[in-house]
Amino acid sequence: MGLKLFNTMGREMQEFVPINKGEAFVYACGPTVYNYAHIGNLRTYIFEDILRRVLEFSGYKIKHVMNVTDVGHLTDDADSGEDKMEKSARETGRTVWDIAKFYTDAFFSDIESLNIEKPEIVCRATDHVGDMIDLIKKLEDKGYTYVSGGNVYFSIDKFADYGKMALLDRQNLQAGSRIEVDSNKRNPHDFVLWFTKSKFENHAMLWDSPWGKGYPGWHIECSAMSMKYLGESFDIHCGGIDHINVHHTNEIAQSEAASGKKWVNYWLHGEFLVMNKSKMAKSAGNFITLSTLKEKGYDPLDYRYFCLSGHYRSQLQFSFESLDAARTARVNLVDRVKALNAEALGAVSDKLSDKGTLYLEDFKSGIEDDLNCPKALAVFWTMLKDQNLEAGEKLSLSLMFDKVTGLELSVKKDEKEEIEELDDNIRRLIDEREEARKSKDFARSDSIRSELKMLGIEIKDTPDGTVWKKL
Ligand code: AMP
Ligand code: ZN
Repeated sequence: MGLKLFNTMGREMQEFVPINKGEAFVYACGPTVYNYAHIGNLRTYIFEDILRRVLEFSGYKIKHVMNVTDVGHLTDDADSGEDKMEKSARETGRTVWDIAKFYTDAFFSDIESLNIEKPEIVCRATDHVGDMIDLIKKLEDKGYTYVSGGNVYFSIDKFADYGKMALLDRQNLQAGSRIEVDSNKRNPHDFVLWFTKSKFENHAMLWDSPWGKGYPGWHIECSAMSMKYLGESFDIHCGGIDHINVHHTNEIAQSEAASGKKWVNYWLHGEFLVMNKSKMAKSAGNFITLSTLKEKGYDPLDYRYFCLSGHYRSQLQFSFESLDAARTARVNLVDRVKALNAEALGAVSDKLSDKGTLYLEDFKSGIEDDLNCPKALAVFWTMLKDQNLEAGEKLSLSLMFDKVTGLELSVKKDEKEEIEELDDNIRRLIDEREEARKSKDFARSDSIRSELKMLGIEIKDTPDGTVWKKL
């Protein structure tokens, strides 16, 4: 069985077939850096990290691009509202550039502590305004744009497939439907590609353009940057489920209108983290950050484990009780793998038995079934609890599985030294016991066995000598 993914475009499970054999090109919408990411946002980045790890596990070479939205954009998905970056700057007395830098650093520190692999390319919108202008010019040349009230708009009526992924009804996309009407728009669903008329005075982030000094709309940045680094057509685009209707719908329209080609083959969307029955959201003020969890004594990987316990396409209900359960499970997992390391002296079995191979296949079939992490975790635990599997093989499988789960189970250098030191002590006691037995000093031999037991070590005499394991 190969990798199967649920494609939002068409709403069906599909086998993953990349454009270039053996390679997977992935684009993920990145953070808006005017505030800390909340743990809901981080759930989406954990899902995307699992996606890339599964692709790697399945043997694909990855090129993963993520943008950082450091151009302020407006407070809602439509083109209205207040600029978030400017608002934050005003409230904190810092410049918009300081705000963007501060929260970009905070975001990367968060994802590092969650053991999220950094995408191959991280690109800031402010470094790519020229690419966005070029793309808007292309759309203008092809007749997809109009200028009204000083801003450049994309005309959705010119793009026949508008709203296909979101299953939007074309009838309801006609002017007059009940969304906030911007009198500059020909159709209320048209969206801004370039603003020259900011609603706010002293807008700090401005660039020259053929349409006047201004700044780009939000959607255009993802189209411009993804096509720059991944080409006009690429494999996978992902983000949170809230982006389906507007942001990704608009990205598709402008990208395909510009290139005349199908832009993305697979669309993956992560469901929300919810708290007290409503979506965790910055704007609603009901959000928790990773720093809060750390202050409360949680390891960021407890939260990672918590996220793995739900499927990315299901809502996940956050509560501290559930996070506590995840912490207990993760600590148990870490302890078990540590014990396996001690028992097998860190030596992983190179070859898997038939049983071990079955576990590997089960694990693979879980993750390849649209990244089914709850199933993969269940296989992980069953394997660990299997009494008939050697420690070395369990260790080997655990480390393989952790390439996907990313729970940092491999033994760190200082822990390895600790194991080696423990081993030296135990070996010395076992040798002493051997000597005592040879000289028929059974009292001494028994007392060494008890001493080892006190250290939590059980010994067994085998034809090949004395072996030990942790109790
Ligand atoms: P933003 O920084 O607001 O653009 O959001 C970053 C990512 O987090 C986007 O992919 C959003 O779809 C996603 N997101 C926002 N709220 C939640 C939530 N409550 N649960 C999961 N993902 C979310
Ligand atoms: Zn995007």
